[in-house]
Amino acid sequence: MLKGKTALVTGSTSGIGLGIALALARQGAKLVLNGFGDTQGPLAQVQALGVQVDYHGADVSRPEQIEDMMKFAASRFGKVDILVNNAGIQHVAAVEDFPPERWDAVIAINLSSAFHATRLALPAMKAANWGRIINVASVHGLVGSVQKVAYISAKHGLVGMTKVVALETATTGVTCNAICPGWVLTPLVQQQVDARAAQQGCSIEEAKRQMLGEKEPSMQFTTPQELGELAVFFCSPAGNNVRGVAWNMDGGWAAQ
Ligand code: NAD
Repeated sequence: MLKGKTALVTGSTSGIGLGIALALARQGAKLVLNGFGDTQGPLAQVQALGVQVDYHGADVSRPEQIEDMMKFAASRFGKVDILVNNAGIQHVAAVEDFPPERWDAVIAINLSSAFHATRLALPAMKAANWGRIINVASVHGLVGSVQKVAYISAKHGLVGMTKVVALETATTGVTCNAICPGWVLTPLVQQQVDARAAQQGCSIEEAKRQMLGEKEPSMQFTTPQELGELAVFFCSPAGNNVRGVAWNMDGGWAAQ
């Protein structure tokens, strides 16, 4: 379905971003991966699906590096048709204890990076009259929780940005939507599981059960594969007129 299209997924060396990259590659899209840590494993996983793939190591907290990444993608594959703004970090602390530099980092990576990548991707998408911008927000773009002030502010902002971009592209073949996962057992959440187990002196399994029990009525983690299939839907012809939604996949978290 996506043969001939190029997708750029920020933060796709791990977790949800990698799940979305693999789902798009299964549909035939060429991929530009981005993110830190091991790159060879993710590159090999995408290559094994028989599509062209390349990697750019931009630190998305740096606008000039995002600019370089977008130029690299255009020079390598012509243009970016599908932009997935996924890179994100978390920091957990009460508002009065929240280090200002962590606030700045979370806002830069989880919110401002999506603005910069989107503003740079839009001209070519509009010229082609086809494009998909998918912002990986969170159920925390829809509801609050304690101790995550920067993350929740950034994710609410990302949902707002999604609506503005959707409205500004409403009469074109470009759509912009947000995905709002609940708990997904990636390295980002594993850190929170480990911290809870250490703090409470309980097992990892008990810490997971408590985290799900507090928030997710389904008592199940959403998987990167499931989120990848939602991204594929947004890219499908059935998604042509889906604009500005913040679609939660959260086991009922936000329904409460
Ligand atoms: P993860 O830690 O597994 O992956 C994060 C990715 O972002 C990695 O590839 C990492 O290298 C990359 N990254 C981090 N900082 C970066 C930077 N400055 N520049 C470039 N890349 C950078 O986390 P994840 O759980 O897969 O999270 C992906 C997205 O999903 C995030 O935006 C997160 O907020 C969101 N999300 C996660 C959950 C969850 O439960 N895991 C729930 C809702 C939303």
